[in-house]
Amino acid sequence: MLRDAHRNRGTAFSAEERGALGLTGRLPAAVETLAEQAARAYVQLSAQPDDLAKYVYLNALHDRNETLYFRLLTEHLSELLPIVYDPTIGDAIEHWSTEYRRSRAVYLSVDRIEDVRTAFETLELGPDDVDLIVCSDAEEILGIGDWGVNGTDIAVGKLAIYTAAAGIDPNRVIAVNLDVGTDNQKLLDDPAYLGNRHPRVRGERYDELITTYLDVATELFPNALLHFEDFGPSNARRILVEHGDDHRIFNDDMQGTGAIVMAAVISGLKVTGSSFSDQRLVVFGAGTAGTGMADQISAAMVRDGLSESEARERVWLIDKNGLVTDDMDDLPDYQQAYARPTSEVDGWSDGPIDLLTTVERVKPTILIGTSTVSGAFTKDVVRALCEGVDRPILLPLSNPTSRIEVMPHDAITWSDGAALIATGIPADPVDHDGVTYTIGQGNNALLYPGLGLGTIVAAASRVTDGMLLAAANAVAGQVDVSDPGASLLPPVDDLRASSAIVAIAVARAAADDGVATRTHDDLEGAVHATMWTPDYPDLDLETDR
Ligand code: NAD
Repeated sequence: MLRDAHRNRGTAFSAEERGALGLTGRLPAAVETLAEQAARAYVQLSAQPDDLAKYVYLNALHDRNETLYFRLLTEHLSELLPIVYDPTIGDAIEHWSTEYRRSRAVYLSVDRIEDVRTAFETLELGPDDVDLIVCSDAEEILGIGDWGVNGTDIAVGKLAIYTAAAGIDPNRVIAVNLDVGTDNQKLLDDPAYLGNRHPRVRGERYDELITTYLDVATELFPNALLHFEDFGPSNARRILVEHGDDHRIFNDDMQGTGAIVMAAVISGLKVTGSSFSDQRLVVFGAGTAGTGMADQISAAMVRDGLSESEARERVWLIDKNGLVTDDMDDLPDYQQAYARPTSEVDGWSDGPIDLLTTVERVKPTILIGTSTVSGAFTKDVVRALCEGVDRPILLPLSNPTSRIEVMPHDAITWSDGAALIATGIPADPVDHDGVTYTIGQGNNALLYPGLGLGTIVAAASRVTDGMLLAAANAVAGQVDVSDPGASLLPPVDDLRASSAIVAIAVARAAADDGVATRTHDDLEGAVHATMWTPDYPDLDLETDR
């Protein structure tokens, strides 16, 4: 009992339980409540010298007593999010093979595709036992790139947030690492590296691993939501496009990010009183996140009455070589649909068309930054944006802070408070001309836990655009933008409550879209009843012995 993290409750075992379970004399005399244990654990955690040490402490606690770990995480979630996930998890991943102690994941190797089924079967779980699987091939981890098998903790960390933020039952989830090799030479040269020691396998064999994973996971766990995390941009999109219609897939980097940005845009549109079909969108940095956002915003334009081609005509992508135009060679497939005809931009510039020129010509109503280019939204760009429209929506989303396109303080000053801003980093409020501007953070944790919970409660067979939009609307509905300087997004400080609101909206949308396989007379009650809480359940001393 003391060694089994699922069942261990340490000093919270009562005297009677200690006697019945053979723990007599194995614990100090005091019998504590979970709250008392959590208070001590928080003191221990706070005494750790740095964030990485806190990450290691939490991991060890997770291995010792899962309930206490989740109690601590749930009680201090906004403080601990940056520890259990981005950015501290990046440091942990870099040292993962060296620091390896035990594993919480299932490893599926591109060199042993025939083992995929057996690997899941070793868990001895039945078809109704799994709600959620998070998998990653770790090609593009949080801005630190390719980390091969070291990226396993991305899936583990994501699941921990699902549990803490939305009460997804930690006993009903699986973390999966898809080990297809790594192109990170440092890892290949590291004697401690624990993954397949060869370059990334691409092409047919990679696709076979993905297809096998999807088919086996769907067959063995037909109700599980399959979450994809930190794949390279072209694989991320391809897998979603090829398999999204026949598997219950969710890609957080694309769909989650797209939806949280939609939430910020929806709030911004409430301020400007305009609709999606009135918008002109410029995306600076057309990678995974940027094009995912372009997809969702143009889909919203279509829902607002535009045709698909009319919607695409309202989107301009800028990448490393300037404005993306149809005469460019080797455009990634995810940029091709938005390439502008050269006839349109004739005479705009002698060379590549830069951001300032694009802003001056296009007069965007929304400017998104997902380029990781620090300071790219200069004073001239912000001024040009405000000359084009009265209240532009300005979303410099790159993070960490060293990479943000413009700091909110500068953007508010240069736009004289006109720009409606949300960022990817947590940012302090800005005082300008007697108004305090609260800066919302486009944190995916506001969205995906509730989206997952709603999908599970509705037993939805797919994650539809309607469910993503419902999640975005539910997030946006949690802020009142009528105050001057109001944030476009809610704070990340009560995620359990906000995830429940998102889940209810998502389950409703699943029913409306005809993909819900379970309906509830009391949906709100069903959502709350599904949420796992970190408490010690009553023990049955006969069966738990
Ligand atoms: P990515 O590498 O897929 O995309 C970055 C893109 O920027 C690439 O296409 C790259 O070619 C382009 N780029 C690089 N230099 C450029 C330049 N000088 N001019 C124009 N384009 C340039 O990365 P990603 O996953 O899309 O993430 C991008 C950024 O967005 C990251 O900083 C990430 O943290 C941030 N992001 C924020 C959120 C959020 O706030 N919710 C969500 C996702 C990503």
